[in-house]
Order: sequence, then C-alpha cells, then structure tokens
Amino acid sequence: MPEQPILIIGGGPAGMEAARAIADLGYHAILVEKRNRLGGTPDEAGYAALTPDFRNAGEAMAEMAARIENNPFVNLKLNSTVTAASGSVGNFEVTIQNGQASEKINAGAVIIATGFQHFDPGRETQQYGYYEFDDVITLVDLEKMLRAHNVVRPSNGKPPERLCFIQCVGSRDRQIGNEYCSKVCCGIASKEAIEVRQQLPNCKVFIFYIDMRMYGYWENQIYWPAQEKYKVNYVKGIVTEVLKKGDRLLIRGEDTTMGRPMEIPMDIVVLSVGMEPSAGTCELAKIFGVQQNKYKFIETLGGALDTVTTSVEGVFACGAATGPADLEDSVSSAAAAAMKAIAAVRKHRPLE
Ligand SMILES: Cc1cc2nc3c(=O)[nH]c(=O)nc-3n(C[C@H](O)[C@H](O)[C@H](O)COP(=O)(O)OP(=O)(O)OC[C@H]3O[C@@H](n4cnc5c(N)ncnc54)[C@H](O)[C@@H]3O)c2cc1C
Ligand code: SF4
Repeated sequence: MPEQPILIIGGGPAGMEAARAIADLGYHAILVEKRNRLGGTPDEAGYAALTPDFRNAGEAMAEMAARIENNPFVNLKLNSTVTAASGSVGNFEVTIQNGQASEKINAGAVIIATGFQHFDPGRETQQYGYYEFDDVITLVDLEKMLRAHNVVRPSNGKPPERLCFIQCVGSRDRQIGNEYCSKVCCGIASKEAIEVRQQLPNCKVFIFYIDMRMYGYWENQIYWPAQEKYKVNYVKGIVTEVLKKGDRLLIRGEDTTMGRPMEIPMDIVVLSVGMEPSAGTCELAKIFGVQQNKYKFIETLGGALDTVTTSVEGVFACGAATGPADLEDSVSSAAAAAMKAIAAVRKHRPLE
C-alpha cells in the first residue's frame, strides 16, 4: 500500500516550498489554502520588491506557485481550510471545509505553514496616530505605493518632501507583550527607504531606530548602500509621539546619541510593524493540539537543532508560523519540514 499523502496547510512561501520538495521527491502532498490563490502574505499584502535582492515580489511568488500548480503530485485545495483532525502519525483523519462543503481526507503527516499577520499599529501604540492621521502609514501601505510607483501623502496626493520610518512598532515591546524582535523590519525599512530615494530623489528620508538589526549579508546589501549611496539618515532615538502641526506631522522624541530631545516635521510617517502569529496559526495549533509558545507562535521542540518538529508526533511546522522569519528562513525550514514529514510517513506506512 502506498504511503498516505502529506497534508500542508498554508500556501505562502513556506507551504509552497514544502509542497514542491515533497513532490520533487515523488511523494504526494495535499495543500490547503484559505485564499483563492497561492502566494501567502507577500502576495496578499502586495509587497513590491523583495529584500535583499530587489526582486519583483509578485513575479517571485508566481514562480513558486507555478512549480506546484498542475503538478500531479500536489493536490491543491484553494478557498479551503481545516476544521477538525483526529488520528495520529501515519494516519491522520482531517476535515477540510470549502464553503458549505466538507470532506474528510487521510494524511500520514501534517505540515502547518499558516504564517503570520502584521501587527496592527492602532492596537496599543495609539501615540503614533495610525488611525488618526492619514499620513501615518505602515511598511505594508508603503510597499503598495512603491509597487504602484505612486508614493504620495494620502492626505493631499502630493509627493512627500520628508518621510521617516519608526522602527520596532509592536516588537521588542514589553508593555504590549511582544518582547521579541521581528527580524525583518530593519531590513525592509532600509530597502523601502532606498526605493523611496530612487523614486523621489528630492525626498529626505529618516529612519528612527533603537538598534539596527541586519542579518548576515543584509548589512552590505541594504544597510550601507542606504546610507552611503542613497543618503538615508539613520537616527538612533526614541519617538514618543506623532502629532499634527499645520498640514504636517511632528515627530517628538529623543535623539539618544546626542542625548537631546527632538521635534522634526514630516510629511509621511511609516510605522515598521512587526510580525504576530496569524489567526490561522492559532486555530491550527488548537485543532492539532500542538503547543504554542508564550507569543502564540507554534512551539518547535528541538531548539536550534530542529526548527520544525512540534509537540505532536507527525505534525511539523515551518515558516513564520513558528516565529518571525524572513523568506530565506521560511523556505529553508519548509524544506526541512518536508524531509521530516516524508521520514515520518515512511516510518509509519500502513501495512501491506
Ligand atoms: C512588511 C513586511 C515585508 C516583508 N518583506 C520581506 C522581504 O522583502 N523579504 C523577506 O525575506 N521577507 C519579507 N518579509 C517576511 C515574509 O513576509 C515572511 O518571511 C513570509 O511571508 C513567511 O512565509 P510563510 O509561508 O511562513 O507565511 P505567510 O506568507 O504568512 O503565508 C501563510 C499562508 O497560510 C494561509 N493560511 C493562514 N491560515 C490558514 C488556514 N486556517 N487555512 C488555510 N490557509 C491558511 C494564508 O492565507 C497564507 O497564504 C516581510 C514581512 C513584513 C512584515
Ligand atoms: S528587525 Fe529591527 S525594527 Fe524589527 S523588531 Fe527587530 S530591531 Fe525592531
């Protein structure tokens, strides 16, 4: 009897990569995605160019999707989600809901790749006025403007003369409870800053940060070019509030390098919102009974040495469902999850 298929939940970069790896190895995958298309958050949020290589995000996601669409080893179920599960490794019985219809499938192992959601800056950082002032936007809002080559002040449709980013919005914040670093926002803000300078060479761009956390090669690929080639101004400081002054915004806070208070007028303020587990990640953790960590991301048990094994045998997790991750981390962990899921179904294959 052939092995049971491997169920993957979530069709973002991680889920797509897991499906591809399973198919490439000649195993069968069922991929369940709640949206009507693949591509995950980069597609849904409309990212413009990817960090660090400025690759067109839409094209990159379409390329990943093309590898598994019409692939005989991948059974794609769009507009679908998982509502119940029972059984154990080698033979999970899972209910998949598609609109009013529901079906039961059997899977030998499960990979949860349900990703993250952007922190809602209106939730607890009201002092930045996201829902109050039109010209306070997020990294995601700016991605959409960059993609459309239309970076303008939402309040009056004019190109900004001064634009700034405020880092760590919703991350590294003990009061909110998100004590973790979201890993990607320093790089993404710096990448967007470069794009703003490319599209609007007369716009002055500032980044207010606690510390800049660039991983590995991003230091040379993004951070230094932003400063040296594109003249982005990095200011180590804490912005305490954003106010309205005339038809502009006023950034109020402290320049911690200079040790003095600062008040700077801006046309657009971009909040570098971090990552939280998606609603789907929390739901799926409950359905499969896998442990979540204190931030509600899915807990993996092997520390640095195994980033995909969960507390339930045969259930693996990858990508941003397990914590803040860039694309590189997400697809790497997806490939690891695929490999471990295949090993699990082989070990527990039904008897002939
Ligand atoms: C503003 C911003 C910009 C970014 N830009 C970059 C960048 O340029 N370069 C980079 O390396 N990283 C970037 N990242 C990080 C990148 O978005 C993530 O690394 C990546 O999206 C994680 O992929 P994923 O597949 O784990 O999750 P996601 O992309 O979140 O995909 C999860 C998928 O699961 C689906 N899903 C959720 N719940 C369910 C459910 N219950 N049932 C079925 N399906 C479900 C969702 O619809 C979605 O398709 C950025 C992050 C932010 C915050
Ligand atoms: S990546 Fe940068 S902006 Fe994002 S939480 Fe970490 S330090 Fe803050």
